[in-house]
Amino acid sequence: MSANSSRGGNWPRIRKLCFLTYGTVCHICNEQIDMSLSATNPRSPLAPSVDHLVPKANGGTDTLSNLRPAHVRCNSMRVNQLNTPPTDTSRNWYPNRIPATDDSEDW
Ligand SMILES: [Zn+2]
Repeated sequence: MSANSSRGGNWPRIRKLCFLTYGTVCHICNEQIDMSLSATNPRSPLAPSVDHLVPKANGGTDTLSNLRPAHVRCNSMRVNQLNTPPTDTSRNWYPNRIPATDDSEDW
């Protein structure tokens, strides 16, 4: 239905273009990314990945200008930083059970 469904086919190309455009140095830790891991060990923490400068959750897009090369490790560290609260009381972030309001609530 929406134009968003086109991601599947284009992503590998965009990803490749990102490395061609910005090189193979991680934009987070500034160290070289071993591109051969992409074929031999894509799940390695040092394997190449493409990071979104503006996370998709925040409205970021898959356009080249929003993408930078990053290690899998650095990429996921950054995602965690963005997604987790600064304190370790993550429990508090889960909304408390809101008592169900019965039909007594009338506007
Ligand atoms: Zn890195």
